[in-house]
Amino acid sequence: MSLKQKDPEIYNLIQKERRRQTETLDLIASENYVSKEVLEALGSILTNKYAEGYPRKRYYAGNEVIDKIEELAIERVQEAFGLPLDWHVNVQPYSGSPANLEVYNALLEKGDTIMAMNLDHGGHLTHGSPVNFSGKTYNFVHYGVSNKTGRVDYMEVLKMADRVNPKLILCGYTAYPREVDFKKFREIADKVKAIAMADISHIGGLVAAGVHPSPIPFFDVVTTTTHKTLRGPRGAIIMCKNKYATAIDKSVFPGMQGGPHENAIAAIAVTMKEVKTSVFRKYAEQIVKNSKALAHSLQGFGFKLTSDGTDNHLLLVDLTNKNIGGKDAQEVLDKAGIATNRSMVPFDARKPWDPSGIRLGTAAVTSRGMREKEMSKIASWITAVITDPNVADKVRNEIKRFTKNFPAPGL
Ligand SMILES: *Cc1c(COP(=O)(O)O)cnc(C)c1O
Repeated sequence: MSLKQKDPEIYNLIQKERRRQTETLDLIASENYVSKEVLEALGSILTNKYAEGYPRKRYYAGNEVIDKIEELAIERVQEAFGLPLDWHVNVQPYSGSPANLEVYNALLEKGDTIMAMNLDHGGHLTHGSPVNFSGKTYNFVHYGVSNKTGRVDYMEVLKMADRVNPKLILCGYTAYPREVDFKKFREIADKVKAIAMADISHIGGLVAAGVHPSPIPFFDVVTTTTHKTLRGPRGAIIMCKNKYATAIDKSVFPGMQGGPHENAIAAIAVTMKEVKTSVFRKYAEQIVKNSKALAHSLQGFGFKLTSDGTDNHLLLVDLTNKNIGGKDAQEVLDKAGIATNRSMVPFDARKPWDPSGIRLGTAAVTSRGMREKEMSKIASWITAVITDPNVADKVRNEIKRFTKNFPAPGL
């Protein structure tokens, strides 16, 4: 029997969500559309299996096939990211947040000092938010971006590192539109003998495709989610130098997790095979072209962007000069069929619940085959709706027609 017959309630809700995803524009920087093949692996019978432990060291019987799948996932991650031979991979973290906590738990003691980006300037909850386990457990000291440039001020980071002597320096962000200079971070980490950790959750796909420089030649530990620009299932990967491998594996299991989600791990393997192709590299290049085109068009309509532009898949629009808060902007855009999320901008005078900015990303619309021309169309829709919320319904209908020409993968 099918889901449709057995559980029409859930079936119908899934269909409704499918329609929403099909008929609207997804500009949420952390979202994407996975391929049919990724969905197939994710929805497979692999979800039935318990596989606590690691390949060839499992605590349950019947893991011969599962071992092959997990080993293949690891091998493909190594290839996709061009990992040196002295690097190790763990594909078991349930998602990005647990992956980060698992690294801290592996390498630090409670109360140790970590330097990370200020949350209002683009850091993630797991980078020491006071409401997050990270902030309650470790002594986070936050650096920020420069008031003038909206970019990381590396001199500031160096001075702070000298002053606070962190055990770990973390870079990698959730709302930072510019290229990160990993080499500079490494130099700073070396000066104070700190562990260098990069959380490339957002830019993982760009890094794997060579469109953004990689931290791997310089860093000790790199985490990434697999569902943002990497365009895979919800999940995460930890990559680290071999000398941290044992501590990190132990921290993931049995330290913080039980049975790994092998269906998700199989889907990660499928994703990594996709990531290694020239088609994916072109896709990643197009994401950045689209993001620059969207930035350019929006600036033409008088929108202010933090750091005045973008080098990656996302832009941060500061709405201060547009007489609308981030919350209202997000809501009216959503009404018009444009999904975004409100966001703090650096040095925001407003509060997180209703901040001054919205964050836009081009990973999902690029997966639908949209290019620069479509970005300028999207910019005019955004402008129309922000300028006059009354046009939301009209725009929603236009977008509904428009998206028919850009079928999303997997839908
Ligand atoms: C998205 C993100 C995460 C967390 O990912 P979840 O899968 O939502 O837990 C961690 N770090 C950064 C920088 C992110 O952008």
